[in-house]
Amino acid sequence: MKKSAEVVIIGGGISGLSTAYNLAHMGCKDVVLLEKKSLYSGSTGRCAAGVRQQFGLEMNCRLAKGSCEILENLNELLDYEGDIEFKQGGYLWLLHTDEEVELYKKNVQLQNSLGIKSRLITVEEALKIVPYLNPEGIKACTFHQKDGHANPFQVSQAYAQAAKRLGVEINIFTEVTDIKVKNNHIVEVLTDKGKIATNKVLNAAGAFAKDIGKMVGVKFPLKPERHQILVTEPVEPLLGPMVISTDVYCQQEPQGSFLMGYGDPNEPEGVDVSSSWRFMEVVAKKVCKILPILSNIKVVRQWAGSYTMTPDVAPILGSVPEVEGFYLAVGFSGHGFMLGPMTGVLMAEHILGKEVTIPIDKLDIGRFKRGELMREPAVS
Ligand code: FAD
Repeated sequence: MKKSAEVVIIGGGISGLSTAYNLAHMGCKDVVLLEKKSLYSGSTGRCAAGVRQQFGLEMNCRLAKGSCEILENLNELLDYEGDIEFKQGGYLWLLHTDEEVELYKKNVQLQNSLGIKSRLITVEEALKIVPYLNPEGIKACTFHQKDGHANPFQVSQAYAQAAKRLGVEINIFTEVTDIKVKNNHIVEVLTDKGKIATNKVLNAAGAFAKDIGKMVGVKFPLKPERHQILVTEPVEPLLGPMVISTDVYCQQEPQGSFLMGYGDPNEPEGVDVSSSWRFMEVVAKKVCKILPILSNIKVVRQWAGSYTMTPDVAPILGSVPEVEGFYLAVGFSGHGFMLGPMTGVLMAEHILGKEVTIPIDKLDIGRFKRGELMREPAVS
């Protein structure tokens, strides 16, 4: 392991890997990435890997649109010999109340104003896109064809390989145990494999970002919580888009399995990633209600990972005023995979003091103290 680096990145998920690549691509090649387990063993390797641009917050729309455009060309951009398997089958968002229809109508207007070609559609139109949909109780839907799904392992691997080729040192099974700060400046990162002298550290530690913050004496309003996924046996193609509502989501993977999940409002704070029987029963019922054809398909496995929630369900990107050289890409609130490609570009630009492609000042940690919350309304 190197004894010093211009930038040390903590976390080998999509946020850390994408930033590592972008730093090196922008000319900063003296970068060390530290991952306590294997690469993408955190939320990135456990996510549903849905990619959507249908948000209700301008910032999230812009981050998601930028990310989606990068994903469309990522194989070529990173000269990847594999395939990130980006399938743009769309997201069909089901709206069950008049209030939801009004809110999502506004979201579509915002999305359209930003160049995202989403549409508010009738239930009849939705049935043409998803013929197996049970229309009961659905008032209207929104649809955006360019939303979709990518393979999180392939995307992360593509970034990791490209970063390494450009000179980034990636150390797996290397846990950051402390960070030394002198006169409010970062000076050293301590790991279970040795020390690295550095003045710049990116905290991209996902559900463990709070622990990294404690090492430099900074508290974050982050709440990790367990989210589970259920997977079925692979079957013939039955579903094109991701079907989603505020209650549940379900999509069919390219190899035929269905993948589904929902946010349990009673889930306590914590980094528990065990699976529960209750989840399997509840999610299966919810999904079979909207897609009854799935009731005869066998479940093959389930797993869990962490969402890292912020009070306004928008990420925290930027610097920390109290500690010079400490940067944050945390709190993605369940959307960090789809925002990852743009997160990497913006964090690299920010760390290198370049003009950022999308201004991220409103996503800073200070917004919570200032009471300037971002408030994303389109969350599942
Ligand atoms: P992570 O991938 O969690 O990476 C952080 C890494 O830091 C981990 O590998 C961890 O081991 C490492 N680390 C922590 N502490 C230390 C330390 N002290 N030293 C060294 N390394 C350390 N997002 C979407 O966009 N679309 C979806 O459809 C979607 N579905 C999801 C479904 C589920 C069930 C879950 C759990 C999440 C889902 N997400 C989804 C959210 C998404 O997975 C995350 O937002 C995203 O992966 C965050 O990436 P990250 O790189 O910031 O964090």
